[in-house]
Amino acid sequence: MLVESYDDLMQGDPSPECEGFLHSVETCGTVDGPGIRFVLFTTGCPLRCLYCHNPDTQRLKAGRKVTAGEMVEQIRRYRPFIKNGGLTISGGEPLAQQRFIESVFRDVKRMGLHTALDTSGCFGTRIRPHLLDEVDLVLLDLKSWTNARHRRITGQAMDEVLAFAHHLEAIRKPTWIRFVLVPGLTNDDETLDGIGSFAGALHNIELVEVLPFHKYGESKYERLQQRYELKNCPEPTDQEVERVKARFRSFGLKVR
Ligand code: SF4
Repeated sequence: MLVESYDDLMQGDPSPECEGFLHSVETCGTVDGPGIRFVLFTTGCPLRCLYCHNPDTQRLKAGRKVTAGEMVEQIRRYRPFIKNGGLTISGGEPLAQQRFIESVFRDVKRMGLHTALDTSGCFGTRIRPHLLDEVDLVLLDLKSWTNARHRRITGQAMDEVLAFAHHLEAIRKPTWIRFVLVPGLTNDDETLDGIGSFAGALHNIELVEVLPFHKYGESKYERLQQRYELKNCPEPTDQEVERVKARFRSFGLKVR
């Protein structure tokens, strides 16, 4: 597995001159946090999820170089349209570029906008000390349950993700759990009950979002000449989605 080094992107003071690697922006997002969102998609991710629908974001250098100041100015121009919403930084894995995203979050928060971090939690024990001060909401993927299954789906163990989830609870950070429902891969009883009981015991979980697996990213794998492992995997039926939501609700969680 190709793993890039992110060390240089983690340290140093946040400033408008900090450089980051960006895949794209979405100016009126409605699915990555509350309200209308300006969404930055960064590049670079150490995971290789079987169902990743943005494989073109996985390599850091696949992105274009931007400065934090440039991004903040772009967001400032859209501010009148970001009603009841804010900024979400997604990826790729945004925590691969912590100095850059801390800079952007800090200055966007100074504008009075709500900030959300969409993450797999895979850098969970390597978080800059003040980064989460600039984040109002974390959207945390729980991709599986048990290290063996998590490793099969993402290429890495789950320990860092769980450590990050516990840390978020300890600092009382509002968190939404995101769960991708893949038939035959993530909808077994052990996974659903493991995630449900874990999330249900945390006091900072405001919502669980069940995201049905889809194949929108398949053509990207062809373009990148990468093998798409889930080519023959069916998308879940509406009934299956409802069953999984009901299972999570049985742990006292708010689910949508
Ligand atoms: S964490 Fe996200 S960007 Fe990284 S491989 Fe998984 S789905 Fe793709």
